[in-house]
Amino acid sequence: MIKEQKKFFRKCDHPDCELEGEYRAPKNRNLTEYYWFCLKHVSEYNKAWNFYDGMSQEEIERENKLDETWHSPSWKFGINLENLAKEGRLDDPFEIYNTYMRRVGGAKNKTKIYGNAKSALTTKEWEALGILELQFPLTEVQLKTKYKQLVKKYHPDLNGGSKQAEEMFKKVAESYRILLKKIQKS
Ligand SMILES: [Zn+2]
Repeated sequence: MIKEQKKFFRKCDHPDCELEGEYRAPKNRNLTEYYWFCLKHVSEYNKAWNFYDGMSQEEIERENKLDETWHSPSWKFGINLENLAKEGRLDDPFEIYNTYMRRVGGAKNKTKIYGNAKSALTTKEWEALGILELQFPLTEVQLKTKYKQLVKKYHPDLNGGSKQAEEMFKKVAESYRILLKKIQKS
């Protein structure tokens, strides 16, 4: 009997990419979860991480507030993400991811309408997608499932009152509202 050889296909985690996600990139410093990207997107993500290397929390926050203005700092290539992460030199992975999304997605594709989104995505909506780890096309059921899952994960009571968890908890709730509005018929 011949066993069918079916190659497993993992799509790139970038919301607007249909290529295979062959390269993994850590979502957090504990290296417990990974994104999977194609070569192009893993190197962009890589650059986004490196962008924060050596920056203080204040600088990172200020950088995150700089909408659209995408200045090009002298990025280094080929940095080892895993080593950086192990050394604890990386900060909030969600902020990193959001900024990455804003730059490679939101900024470049301002007028594109994705899947069942009612209109082109705003920066806030890109961020919401990043926070909820979702992409278009998006159903209400998918959105609600993810929301419930993350609300549980970041609930302050389940995280020993961690400030960071509380922040994420709020962001998750806000992102949920933003995306629900985006897909619901008015
Ligand atoms: Zn890709």
